[in-house]
Amino acid sequence: MDSPSFGSIPTAAPSDRRGEAGEVLCAAAGPEPADRGDVVFIAGFGSAIAADFAAFVGREARVEVVPVDDEGGRGPASLVVFLPPSLGEPGRRRLAELLDAAARRSVGFVGIVGTFRVHLNDPVAEETERLALALVRSSGIAARVAVFRPGLVLSPNSGVSRWLGRLGPLFPLAPGRLRTCFIEGEELFAAIEAERSGDARPGGTGEVGPAGRAMGHRRRAYTYLGANLAWREVLERHRGTSAGRRVATAVARVLSWLLAGQLVALAVGLLSRWFPGARPWSVRTLKPRSMREIVSLCHDGNIGRVRVVGYNNGVNHFGHRYPGRTIVSTVCCRRAVHAGPRVLKADCGATIRGAREYLGGRGEELFVMPNYSFVSVGTSFFVPIHGSSVDYATVADTACRVVLYDPNSDRIVSAGRDEGAFRENVYNLRSRMVVLRLYLRTKPKSTYYVRRETWKNAGADDLLAALRDRDAANVEIRQAHAASDTVTISKYYNEPSGPSGPAQESPRDALGRLWDRLEENPVTSFLMHALSRHVAWHTELFLTPAEFERFWATHAEVALRKIQLRYIRRDGMPHSPFRDEDCVSADLFLFRFDKAAFDGYLAKNLPNVRCNPGKHSN
Ligand SMILES: Cc1cc2nc3c(=O)[nH]c(=O)nc-3n(C[C@H](O)[C@H](O)[C@H](O)COP(=O)(O)OP(=O)(O)OC[C@H]3O[C@@H](n4cnc5c(N)ncnc54)[C@H](O)[C@@H]3O)c2cc1C
Repeated sequence: MDSPSFGSIPTAAPSDRRGEAGEVLCAAAGPEPADRGDVVFIAGFGSAIAADFAAFVGREARVEVVPVDDEGGRGPASLVVFLPPSLGEPGRRRLAELLDAAARRSVGFVGIVGTFRVHLNDPVAEETERLALALVRSSGIAARVAVFRPGLVLSPNSGVSRWLGRLGPLFPLAPGRLRTCFIEGEELFAAIEAERSGDARPGGTGEVGPAGRAMGHRRRAYTYLGANLAWREVLERHRGTSAGRRVATAVARVLSWLLAGQLVALAVGLLSRWFPGARPWSVRTLKPRSMREIVSLCHDGNIGRVRVVGYNNGVNHFGHRYPGRTIVSTVCCRRAVHAGPRVLKADCGATIRGAREYLGGRGEELFVMPNYSFVSVGTSFFVPIHGSSVDYATVADTACRVVLYDPNSDRIVSAGRDEGAFRENVYNLRSRMVVLRLYLRTKPKSTYYVRRETWKNAGADDLLAALRDRDAANVEIRQAHAASDTVTISKYYNEPSGPSGPAQESPRDALGRLWDRLEENPVTSFLMHALSRHVAWHTELFLTPAEFERFWATHAEVALRKIQLRYIRRDGMPHSPFRDEDCVSADLFLFRFDKAAFDGYLAKNLPNVRCNPGKHSN
C-alpha cells in the first residue's frame, strides 16, 4: 500500500480530527504534501467511525498531521465519505458542496461507506446510498467509485462499541439466538484502503483459469459483513470487572432465568418486522434481490463470511450450522424463463416448484422431479437432487450451461456442460464458486401411470433389476422399516399398460407429495422442519451395486424407519459421487437416539460409502 497523506478540500469547512459534525472530518498531509499525489479526504457527517478510519490511515501511512487548510498536493486524491443513516435535504446539500469542492482537483477514487442495511429491505438505507451515488455522478467526478456496506462496526469510537461498553454487563439477558454481523473496524478500514490503493483486486486466474468476464471496478459495491456473532458473546467481551458491573451481571442473570431475555428477543423480532431500522439487530440470513447484490456479498473479501444457499433446507430442515457466517439465501433471485426451445434459464434461487409452474403453463416439464419441490435450482449444481427419472438421474444431469461468479478472480463465467468450469465445479462443495444461473433441458409434459407391486423377501439382485428397468419413466422402492420383509415397488410409465393406476401429473407417490403439502402451510412447515432438526435423523447413502448388496443383506441390524431406493446413473463428472459407477440411492430416516448405532453399523459394514451432503442431518 502506498503511503497516503490526508488533505482538506478547498472551500469546504473542515473540522478537526475528533470533530463530530463537520463534513471534512480530518485533514492531514505527509511531510512534503506539495510533492505527493496520494491524498485522502475523509468526510464524516459526524460519524465517529470516520474519525477511527482517519486514525487508521494516519497510523498505517505514518503521516504527519498538518493544519487543515493544507491542500495536500495537486496529484489525484481519494475521497472517502461515511454516509449518515439518512440523507435529508441539508445532508444532501452538504454532500453536494463537498463533492463540488472535491471536483476542483483531480479525484481518482471515491469510497462511499454506507451500511449492510441495504440488504435488509431498508428503504432509507437504499435511498441514502442511491442519493449519494447520484450526487457523485452529477458532481462530474470521473473517479472509480466503490460503495462499502459494512456490518455493525466495532471501532474504538463507533456508536456500537459505545453501546456495547454500556450494556456489556447485561450480557446474560441476550439469548444466544439473537445474532448479527459485526465487523472489526481494522478489517473494514484495511479493506477500504486496499480498494482505494488498488491492492484489493484478486490477481489470480481463480478456479476457472482466465475464462469469463472480469467484473468492472469503475462502480462497485462491496459488502463487508464481518463475523455473524451472538450479541451475548460480543456483550460479554465488554462486561467489565468493576463491582457495579458485576452486580449488574448478577441481576441480569436472575432476570434471564425469568425469561426477560427471551422477551427482548421477541420484541426485537417484532420490531424488525415493522421498523426496518431495527433489522440490523438480528441478522442470520440475508436474501439478496438481484445478481448484483449477490456479487456484492460474495466478493473475495466477504465470501468467507457468508454461506450461499438456495431455499435453505440445509439449515432449516437438516440443522446444518455455519458458525460465524451469515446465510445468504438466493430465494429472491428466482426468475425462470425460456432461453430457447426446450431450455429453461433459471436464476439460482428459482425453486424446482417455480420452474415446474412456469413450464407447466407452457406444456413442458423438467426431466427430473424430486419428491420435494421447495429446493433451489442453483443448489442442484452442488448437491445431487434427483427423482427417479430413467432418462436423467439428477437435475444437474439436465443442465446444459451454468453461470458462475468466481470470487477468487472476480469474474463471471458462463460454461457449457463440457467445459472445464462446469466439470470442475459441479458437485464440488469445496469450490468457492457461486452459481448465479443454470440452464436446464426440458421436455414436453407427460402423464404418468403408476404400477405398484409388493414383493416379499426380495433380494438385492431383484431390486437392482427393478431399479434398472428402462421401460419405466421412474422407479422407486420403499420399505416401511428395516425389519419388514416386504417392499413396495412403484414403476411410473408414460402410457397406461397392464393394471396401472389413474393418470398422474407427476411421478410421485402420496408420501412424496406430502412434503410439498406440509411446506405450503407456514405452521406445518415450521413443525416439519423443527421435528426433523430435533427428533429425526436423515441421511442418503449412494451405494455402488456391491455396497448395495452388502447393505441389503445387513441393514436390518439397525432401526431404520423409512427406506426409499432410487437409481442414479454414472455421469463421469470429476467430483460426482456417481463418477465411475451407477449407484443406488438409499434415503434413510431414523430417530436421533438410534444414530450412534447407525454410525457403528456404517463403520462396520460400509466404511467407504458416500452420502448426499445436501440430505444429511447434522
Ligand atoms: C422434506 C424433504 C424432502 C426431500 N426430498 C428429496 C428428494 O426427493 N430428492 C432429492 O434429491 N432430495 C430431496 N431432498 C433433499 C434436498 O434436495 C436437499 O436438501 C437440497 O439441498 C435442498 O435444497 P435447498 O435449495 O434448500 O438447499 P440449501 O440448503 O439452500 O443449499 C445446500 C447447499 O447448496 C449450495 N448452494 C446452494 N445454492 C448455491 C449457490 N447459488 N451458489 C453456491 N452454492 C450454492 C451450498 O453449498 C449450500 O450449503 C429433500 C429434502 C427435504 C427437506
